[in-house]
Amino acid sequence: MPDSLPTTEKYLENAEKAAKHLERFKGDVLGHFINGKHVPGTSGKVLDNISPIDGSVINQIASGSADNIDAAAKAAANAFPEWRKMPGSERRRILHKVADLIVERAEEIALVECVDTGQALRFMSKAAIRGSENYRFFADKAPEATGGLSMPAQQHMNYSVRSPIGPVGVITPWNTPFMLSTWKIAPALAAGCTVVHKPAEWSPLTAMLLAEITAEAGVPDGVINLVNGLGEEAGKALTEHPDIKAAAFVGESSTGSAIMRQGSETLKRVHFELGGKNPVIVFDDSDMDRALDAVVFMIYSLNGERCTSSSRLLVQETIHEEFIERVAERVKNIRVGHPLDPDTEVGPLIHKRHFDKVKSYFDVAGEEGAEIKVGGSTIDGDGFFVEPTLFTQAGNKMRIAQEEIFGPVLTAMTFKDEAEALAMANDIGYGLTGYVWTKDTGRGLRMAHGLEAGMIWVNSENNRHLPAPFGGMKASGIGRDGGDYSFDFYMETKNICVAFDTHKVPSLGKQ
Ligand code: NAD
Repeated sequence: MPDSLPTTEKYLENAEKAAKHLERFKGDVLGHFINGKHVPGTSGKVLDNISPIDGSVINQIASGSADNIDAAAKAAANAFPEWRKMPGSERRRILHKVADLIVERAEEIALVECVDTGQALRFMSKAAIRGSENYRFFADKAPEATGGLSMPAQQHMNYSVRSPIGPVGVITPWNTPFMLSTWKIAPALAAGCTVVHKPAEWSPLTAMLLAEITAEAGVPDGVINLVNGLGEEAGKALTEHPDIKAAAFVGESSTGSAIMRQGSETLKRVHFELGGKNPVIVFDDSDMDRALDAVVFMIYSLNGERCTSSSRLLVQETIHEEFIERVAERVKNIRVGHPLDPDTEVGPLIHKRHFDKVKSYFDVAGEEGAEIKVGGSTIDGDGFFVEPTLFTQAGNKMRIAQEEIFGPVLTAMTFKDEAEALAMANDIGYGLTGYVWTKDTGRGLRMAHGLEAGMIWVNSENNRHLPAPFGGMKASGIGRDGGDYSFDFYMETKNICVAFDTHKVPSLGKQ
């Protein structure tokens, strides 16, 4: 922790609790979880799991090999027939039990996640509970997962049914690892799929807690498996494995491309939730106070390491000066600190490599001619802390306006009118979310329909409703999560067509 940061002593109690929970990871190298058992790594290669807070080694994890993935995929394939046969009502009961156990251990999960990722406790305690809600939501949908549509025709009855696709691979990133893992794994299990999970190598701890909790809740051996390790090795082997029928991936757009290539040989079904560089558009008739709160929250919460963050601020020129001054005031006051301090709003970035990437944009902004109105520096000392940063006077073609920085860094620009705002917002390769602030309902609707993004919020920050579709367009993703959309990915749809025996069957070769 850098000495220059004001430390309130409030984190000490949490640090003590976190240390107790982390104790179990300190000894042996953290291995894998395969077929209901903890399994040590077999490759002999280990990876250091580094603390974002001070750069020290938290623990070591096994670097999973293709052999480990093979064992996990085989376990998942063996467990699949029984798990898919289990009545949905029984799967519902077990998955609710997972949710109960997450709630019981929510504090532990949140504390461990804060230390592992650098994310502030104020957000991670909510994320752990969100994880349990994901399980409850999909648990309740398990009994209806196999249901389909009835599509009667004149002389035939058509109806569809769904069945789980098989063992699936789930590959997750490091930004909010626990919540994201539940978001992918809960619907897979509810659908009747078995899972091999490859968590991010920079944040492996809570994935193991989730695997253990899931097994403890009564999910049979082999239904949930976890292999730690590198994306290029364990992740690659998972996406290439013939027993794995689909790959659900959350991470960078370029990794999505690699996974598509890797999975092509086995015709893997893929679901991608990728990067974003999302616009928030503030018109001069908006509720300025609410817009200000949302703009600041959506880029500086979760360290800005958030796919849905509103990292491009477009402000109408009539209110630009006043609004930017107000944003700047807020950004200057954001509390950077220890992730376990309940007062902390921004913690350290996940890893030295990511810290260096975010830092590099401070130079890029200067080189491109933007103004660094607030921040723009790293914080000296141990750990990967950067100042919450606001770039102004930016142009939409600049790299700081086009590339995903994935840190507490906001790029602000101006626009004249609705047409220009829309053109600027859409002039980018990404298309995950868009945020519009206006009191003019018609304009809000026009913007919402015109924006090229999978999710639009009008007069709101990101507000998640579990039945609603979640996902991106363009380089931000393929497919949708949430509600029934998740089942579309994890299940095969079969159409069954039965005749009323009234239609004429074509006959060939008849004398
Ligand atoms: P990343 O793509 O580097 O890594 C994500 C996961 O993929 C890790 O587990 C990694 O080990 C694995 N991986 C890497 N190379 C692989 C390969 N060749 N084959 C298989 N697996 C491989 O992403 P990250 O840096 O961990 O996460 C940040 C990114 O995630 C950002 O771009 C962010 O926007 C995105 N993200 C998107 C969403 C969304 O819902 N759209 C949500 C959260 C994060």
